[in-house]
Amino acid sequence: MYKRNQTKKIKIGNIYIGHQDKVLIQSMCNIKTSKASQIIKQINKCALLGADMMRVSIMDKKDADAIKKIKKNISIPLIGDVHFDYKLALLAIKNGCDAIRINPGNISKEEEIKQIIDLAKKNNTVIRIGVNSGSIDKQIYDYDRPLNELDMIHSIDKQLNIFKKYQFDNIVLSLKGSNILTTINAYRIASEKYDYPLHIGITEASINEISLIRSSAGLSPLLLDGIGDTIRISISGNPYQEIVACKRLLHDLGLYDNYPTLISCPTCGRTMVDVTKLAKKVLTYLENNNIKLSVAIMGCVVNGPGEAKNADIGIAGGKGQYVLFKKGNIIKKINEKDAYLTLIEEINKMMNNN
Ligand code: SF4
Repeated sequence: MYKRNQTKKIKIGNIYIGHQDKVLIQSMCNIKTSKASQIIKQINKCALLGADMMRVSIMDKKDADAIKKIKKNISIPLIGDVHFDYKLALLAIKNGCDAIRINPGNISKEEEIKQIIDLAKKNNTVIRIGVNSGSIDKQIYDYDRPLNELDMIHSIDKQLNIFKKYQFDNIVLSLKGSNILTTINAYRIASEKYDYPLHIGITEASINEISLIRSSAGLSPLLLDGIGDTIRISISGNPYQEIVACKRLLHDLGLYDNYPTLISCPTCGRTMVDVTKLAKKVLTYLENNNIKLSVAIMGCVVNGPGEAKNADIGIAGGKGQYVLFKKGNIIKKINEKDAYLTLIEEINKMMNNN
């Protein structure tokens, strides 16, 4: 584990953020918040998948009023996302949000922020100052030239001055951009400049496969530098895939233990078994059953036995059959048609013996 930035430790609901090795996973509901029952169901499913906290949009009074019911029926911290109307931020705090996110690009008047701060102090509510490249404070950047990282930093600074004036410290910062290099630079400057926990993400990162590449490209350099206390991988669609993506990225960077390692070969002209189909089925089983083993599914004997030997368990294909390896030892040969069930049986035996 490489050294992580020692940011300020902030309590948000029943968990802590910052000043720890753990990078928390978060996502955002994609249902209108006033539909409380559906939101509760979605948040609880996200929590089961591994979300440490969830955010909901507060667009009107009905959304803010739904917070009370939602809070009673979930077990992870809830963040209310508020834009334009500071009164909705006050309502979200009053109704029990553990944190609110305000955007300096559209809530920036000192007298309004002071009211939010006063109420947040009374309720121990965390405030995330969340800059987004799509809605920067117009006095700082008016979209008349390419955005740069300092525009985002100036936007944070301007709002932080108000928070400092009213002695409010229960803060998380984010500086999300859709441009990867600008975002990385902004977070690097922020991590040097502030000791508040940082929520990191590439915003508006597009549909699944594009977001996965864009977010990995943007978040990995930061995470490897020890920057980032919580992450979101923004994918157009529902939040479930975002949480799984966060787990996969953090796991591959050595920052998340509770996830399987699936190794499978790309297949080539030598492949004589259906590696792709088997790998997908096995990954689904491992994820659904929370099995954190390392499993290799390889097409042939060129790299197969080597990778399969290094994994906890693995198979390497031949003509219509596989060889099964366990902790480096060949156990048996399996017909391709029996491969999935035999592998799962062996995985379960390993889990029961652990
Ligand atoms: S492990 Fe074998 S089948 Fe798979 S890509 Fe490598 S050489 Fe091809």
